[in-house]
Amino acid sequence: MRGNEPDCNVTIIGAGPYGLSAAAFLRAANVEARIFGEPMVFWERHMPVGMCLRSNWAASHIADPGRALTLDAYCRENGNHVPKPIPLARFVAYGHWFQRKSVQDVDSRQVRTIEIDTRGFKVILADGEQFLSRRVVVATGIGAFAARPAEFVTIPAELASHSSEHSDLREFKGRQVIVIGAGQSALESAALLKEYGIAVEVIAREKVINWVGLHPQLHHLGIISRMLYSTRDVGPAGISRLVAMPHLFRKFPRALQDRTAYRAIRPAGAGWLQPRLTGVPITLGRKVVSANVAGSQLRLRLDDGQERLVDHALLATGFRVDVSRYPFLPESLTNRLKTTNGFPVLKPGLESSIPGLHFVGKCAAWSFGPLLGFVSGAEFASTELVRAINRSIGKN
Ligand SMILES: Cc1cc2nc3c(=O)[nH]c(=O)nc-3n(C[C@H](O)[C@H](O)[C@H](O)COP(=O)(O)OP(=O)(O)OC[C@H]3O[C@@H](n4cnc5c(N)ncnc54)[C@H](O)[C@@H]3O)c2cc1C
Repeated sequence: MRGNEPDCNVTIIGAGPYGLSAAAFLRAANVEARIFGEPMVFWERHMPVGMCLRSNWAASHIADPGRALTLDAYCRENGNHVPKPIPLARFVAYGHWFQRKSVQDVDSRQVRTIEIDTRGFKVILADGEQFLSRRVVVATGIGAFAARPAEFVTIPAELASHSSEHSDLREFKGRQVIVIGAGQSALESAALLKEYGIAVEVIAREKVINWVGLHPQLHHLGIISRMLYSTRDVGPAGISRLVAMPHLFRKFPRALQDRTAYRAIRPAGAGWLQPRLTGVPITLGRKVVSANVAGSQLRLRLDDGQERLVDHALLATGFRVDVSRYPFLPESLTNRLKTTNGFPVLKPGLESSIPGLHFVGKCAAWSFGPLLGFVSGAEFASTELVRAINRSIGKN
């Protein structure tokens, strides 16, 4: 401790796009901030090699206060060309470049736990070091929230695993795989598996696959396109504009917010995946009702009585936010945190019911809308953070 003062003003937990952006904005505003976590690790280790981003170019810049560290600046400085859609490996390299340019001193250590203290928060690192921080910004993404359908809970990992448990789908070579889900992750995993020569089928509850980006000409109609679509690239025409304004979005009646959020982020695949799925069997409108180990294989029963015997089920079944699953938030803290459906309830500044504890990224989506689940929401989140912290110390 510095006298009776906390050792540090702000601690950011997480060094993905949101944590890095928050650090860049806070530092530019002369707010002292420490940042912990392995930069870009979720993208590097929990998404499949060969994947491309679904978000478009304009929505994939990691936000910095001067808008100087864009993907375009990265390409210019490194004299390289990043294709569209953006390959995962290139986005990861861009994230590391962003970190080196703006937040050189990321501390890669894990935060083991944070405890509420009268002067802020006691932050305890994995190696035992501890210090006091006036504020904590949780920027730890969705990695802890992988949703595994109840039918698969008791199935061993070698027979059923969540899509986020893999970074290289070539590990399934020689096996027959069923992909469960109809979102981008499911469809892209199926395309990659097929391209690796792995036998794959997709099964999904949805009756149809929703494709996005099938009409690129709608984005080239000048002022009309700008009225319909925000560059944040979350949601269809019209809704895209609405979710890009989180302060307005949150004023809507709750039921309308929920409906609009669902429409903005319902399971969907990028149009450019369509041709890559040719020849992949896709069974729609069916739910897996039971999964049982059958020797070294997995027997799945569908709700119409059909069965499948496969070597592995890849669960591309998304993520369900539940902050009590963050291992670094003790029960004594989550018990005091106001939540709805697992999301912390946040006020302006993305501050939770525990003063000084902020959440950015997907955890902020219940309070500020679906934009916060995407890289393109980081500019809003970081700007809000700076505003709230400056206000609290009387700078504004
Ligand atoms: C398959 C897939 C594809 C996606 N494609 C897109 C896309 O195209 N465009 C898009 O905008 N979004 C996409 N997303 C959503 C994406 O996850 C979020 O946009 C993005 O990761 C949000 O960044 P973040 O900083 O909140 O979280 P993350 O990138 O997950 O970063 C979290 C950070 O927290 C750190 N951390 C966690 N726990 C601790 C701890 N205890 N101590 C210290 N550090 C910790 C991790 O090391 C990591 O650095 C995709 C998601 C998936 C699963």
